[in-house]
Amino acid sequence: MLNNKYPFTLPALPYGYNDLEPVLDSETLQYHHDKHFQAYVNNLNAALQPYPELQQLTLRQLLDGSHPLPEAAKTAILNNGGGVYNHDLYFKGLSPVTSGKHMPEGKLLDLINQTYGSFDQFKALFTKEAMSVFGSGWTFLVIDTNGKLSIVNTKNQDTVVPMNLVPLLIFDVWEHAYYLIYKNLRANYIEGLWTIANFPVL
Ligand code: MN
Repeated sequence: MLNNKYPFTLPALPYGYNDLEPVLDSETLQYHHDKHFQAYVNNLNAALQPYPELQQLTLRQLLDGSHPLPEAAKTAILNNGGGVYNHDLYFKGLSPVTSGKHMPEGKLLDLINQTYGSFDQFKALFTKEAMSVFGSGWTFLVIDTNGKLSIVNTKNQDTVVPMNLVPLLIFDVWEHAYYLIYKNLRANYIEGLWTIANFPVL
């Protein structure tokens, strides 16, 4: 996604609308992917439409701060570009309860054990951070260029791209991600996410 350029298109959901049950229901996925994610794509394209020079830049170049963005479009590009990147990661980072790598393995598990003591301690800390996001935002497990892990929260649709961090795990803690099924109970949504979240192989 970070190498994509204008015009951006909505990536297909990599599983069926019912496939993440019982954690996320079909209505939640339809609204989240087809309405919210689509809106970020549409609004990013609309923000770039008047600027042919920005249409030549990749999403990474739009988000990483390396190219000055016009004041009139900067907020719209960063918010919607961030929404596109974060949602692409989020949906690709989930898979049905019965498939995927819902536990880290190999080098990533070693790094988690070294950094946090155990997977359970990592999970508890990550959950605490995700619960602490006030308002709308995201919680990431990231790795930096030195191979060091950390847990990072961002506000709204801010990404970890300007910090030059690579996301390994991402939880969307906007209410739109869970409100239809969990109402105000973010903790129950996060508990469920651990059973459908995928860990990459390092
Ligand atoms: Mn979302």
